[in-house]
Amino acid sequence: MLDRDNDLNAWDRDHFFHPSTHMGSHARGETPRRMITGGTGCRITDAEGRESLDAFAGLYCVNVGYGRTEIAEAIAEQARQLAYYHAYVGHGTEASVTLARMIIERAPATMSRVYFGLSGSDANETNIKLIWYYNNVLGRPEKKKIISRWRGYHGSGLMTGSLTGLSLFHAQFDLPLAPVLHTEAPYYFRREDRSQTEEQFSAHCATKLEELILAEGPDTIAAFIGEPILGTGGIVPPPAGYWAAIQAVLKKYDILLVADEVVTGFGRLGTMFGSVHYGMEPDLITIAKGLTSAYAPLSGSIVSQRMWEVLVEGSDRFGPIGHGWTYSAHPVCAAAGVANLKLIDEMDLVRNAGEVGAHFRAALADALSDHAHVGEVRGDGLMAAVEFVEDRDDRRFFDPARKVGPAVSAALLEGGVIGRAMPQGDILGFAPPLCMTREDADRVVSATQEAVRKVL
Ligand code: PLP
Repeated sequence: MLDRDNDLNAWDRDHFFHPSTHMGSHARGETPRRMITGGTGCRITDAEGRESLDAFAGLYCVNVGYGRTEIAEAIAEQARQLAYYHAYVGHGTEASVTLARMIIERAPATMSRVYFGLSGSDANETNIKLIWYYNNVLGRPEKKKIISRWRGYHGSGLMTGSLTGLSLFHAQFDLPLAPVLHTEAPYYFRREDRSQTEEQFSAHCATKLEELILAEGPDTIAAFIGEPILGTGGIVPPPAGYWAAIQAVLKKYDILLVADEVVTGFGRLGTMFGSVHYGMEPDLITIAKGLTSAYAPLSGSIVSQRMWEVLVEGSDRFGPIGHGWTYSAHPVCAAAGVANLKLIDEMDLVRNAGEVGAHFRAALADALSDHAHVGEVRGDGLMAAVEFVEDRDDRRFFDPARKVGPAVSAALLEGGVIGRAMPQGDILGFAPPLCMTREDADRVVSATQEAVRKVL
């Protein structure tokens, strides 16, 4: 007879290669393994019947919350009617075409078309190929290098893992690849010159970018990619004036801007898109997570009208574009997207993200800012982070071996709340479902205060 829990644990240990997991510890059973069985609203349950308030929305993706039957039913209905047909050579389905229209209706006015993928990583791979294609059409074959920021996160593929500016994603994989360059992160809290105002630091970041462009040769630089607010790199909002200063440099050297909105797209910052929130004027926007609230895998590269016109000229000269995924615009995933975007409107989640986000961040700052080991509480919309330091006054960081961030996150989980220990630095991150209530926000704050008190 199947001993369900024991067998599942054994199968997991012996056969499942988990992403972003310490392989040895997991196989030896030294690290916790958790089987998740259900979810409703902001809460998930595990096989042992424990409930957790998920203040990271999975991986900042379950934006409408768990258990929404509207999306489940749309998925089932689409699978019954037509589980699959491809989107090559002009094929479409009602779901994929409707979703494309809904995305463009919500995107900044300069945007024109959506190329669908399955993950944030593959959407960014598509972006880079489109950028290279664009410059080939324009007769600029040398203009191919891509600049991203240290601490940026853009995926785990060969190119996107290279764009990612976190050492964990490079080490032992021989990344970054040559066409990728990294520039300074807009991390005001960790700036070297502490006398700088936010505006001065933004100007400094723009100067660093311009120096890099000039050193490499402007004719070799194709694009700059950035998340409106740094996510996995530590949940770091841009300092005042940052995007205006960066965009001035990009315009000067005719460099495209990619806004990676995998996390911020569809409401997380209290606006439909983070680009709008920070006054960015991107040529490409990457979307994924919040597009379906992770009920099905789906991503997209949104292309501006300006860029689209050059791509069209390309196909008139070279024929159909040689880029496609089998599952691009998968009808079941597209149906999930349509139902999800409708739900975001019906539940008024963009407004809720702004309002509850402001309440949450203020309460978190109130509860923790005076703690001797809290260096900064920061965030925007429904994204927040607490950064821990050994010493506040001389801004000395903990020895990474002490794993303070993971320890606080583990203590928080004990208290029934999920917050994420961000991968670089002792940073506890929050990005809850956009449907979070004020009461749940208060619960996350008090549980965090308790967890910090236990560890520090
Ligand atoms: N871009 C950003 C900003 C992300 O945060 C992520 C994932 O967290 C990605 C891209 C990659 O998305 P995926 O994991 O779906 O490939």
